[in-house]
Amino acid sequence: EMFGQLTSGLESAWNKLKGEEVLTKENIAEPMRDIRRALLEADVSLPVVRRFVQSVGDQAVGVGLIRGVKPDQQLVKIVRDELVKLMGGEVSELVFAKSGPTVILLAGLQGVGKTTICAKLANYLKKQGKSCMLVAGDVYRPAAIDQLVILGEQVGVSVYTEGTDVKPSEIARKGLEEAKKKNIDVVIVDTAGRLQIDKAMMDELKDVKRVLNPTEVLLVVDAMTGQEAGVFYVNLELCDESIIKEIGKPIALVTTFNLEIGITGAILTKLDGDSRGGAALSVKEISGKPIKLVGRGERMEDLEPFYPDRMAGRILGMGDVLSLVEKAQEVMQQEDAEDLQKKIMGANFDFNDFLKQTRAVAKMGSMTRVLGMIPGMTKVTPAQIREAEKSLKIMEGMIEAMTPEEREKPELLAESPQRRKRVAQASGKTEQQVSQLVAQLFQMRVRMKNLMGAMEGGSIPSMSN
Ligand code: GDP
Repeated sequence: EMFGQLTSGLESAWNKLKGEEVLTKENIAEPMRDIRRALLEADVSLPVVRRFVQSVGDQAVGVGLIRGVKPDQQLVKIVRDELVKLMGGEVSELVFAKSGPTVILLAGLQGVGKTTICAKLANYLKKQGKSCMLVAGDVYRPAAIDQLVILGEQVGVSVYTEGTDVKPSEIARKGLEEAKKKNIDVVIVDTAGRLQIDKAMMDELKDVKRVLNPTEVLLVVDAMTGQEAGVFYVNLELCDESIIKEIGKPIALVTTFNLEIGITGAILTKLDGDSRGGAALSVKEISGKPIKLVGRGERMEDLEPFYPDRMAGRILGMGDVLSLVEKAQEVMQQEDAEDLQKKIMGANFDFNDFLKQTRAVAKMGSMTRVLGMIPGMTKVTPAQIREAEKSLKIMEGMIEAMTPEEREKPELLAESPQRRKRVAQASGKTEQQVSQLVAQLFQMRVRMKNLMGAMEGGSIPSMSN
């Protein structure tokens, strides 16, 4: 699970402050070591870790006593705010050209998910009402062109190709011309991905960039690439080995590309995988360029903006309720989703919503990801997922056995053992199971309400439950 280790590492830091009255230089020493260790183990770049720990430490001993806030919660808040700042604070939106087509140039090493991102991005922009065209500029791998054509077809976007015998800059020029002729809003240009950065690759990219004068140059980075993992990418000509050791490979990569060709941002892929999260936390601080989008799976829908505050929430194990609601929104009818969101906020969440949500969740596919977004469920194993899927089925059966009135007013079931008995019999479950389901719904209401309140108020819920 993404960030799982980081989350538990940080948890052990807060736990050491339980029972303390106030944060002092002495009592934060141990927790600060935990935080440092957790970040390093998550592959966060060393200079970033140093600065982060220093800053958090300084703030922690300076805050003094705040009424009603426990020292461990104070530290969580400081770390949260610092994590958000580290990842760039605000979400960095894609920039669009004021006139003519917007050109997005994608660069990245082979295998990072660049071709997939081309199609995902077109799909994402198409949903926003923009017409898109893909340009196949990876002339070194015929398979890459074929793959782009197939993916383009899948998302309903045309792909401009010239085969492999034309120079990439020439393909780019002709592709752009074609897009202008067709009044296309956004042109997404794929470029060659090699196994390592070399001078020829950079020169070629510079040529393509010169021809296109792109609005965005985005580097696609594989989040799974840790400090040590993967091939040794970066040519020593371009980046010193000792620097790579110090800042980590993904970061060296972003920095190198930025220095060489000038990028406007990065796209992090494979965030659904077993990544330890270091790249997500270091890219902005070290390279100065924001992560704009993240890929979280192999499906065309799995592309989202990068929200630093939500990412911080996930790291702290608070889950990512907003992303969950947003995903659900995409799947469900628009009005249904708005209704659901309002209900979650208002804590009027009933069994109909429960059912809608679980069905939406099922449609969303990957339970792992969704469960990771639910507060308190950050550490899930495959066995737990199967268990959860089974219990969703059981819940569905019981909800289906309720009357429409009972679904809307769970209080009716809470108050009446007869009603619970009827539901139990009709669904072939025990009365105890029905009682548990009802209790669960009320717990969910309280939890959602607390969490939403905390998010709106800018504070954070207690970590102790
Ligand atoms: P390219 O060589 O950079 O063009 O990489 P591809 O787009 O061909 O992707 C390489 C592999 O990674 C393919 O098997 C993709 O299905 C997979 N992949 C791409 N993006 C993601 C992602 O966000 N999550 C996961 N799990 N796999 C991905």
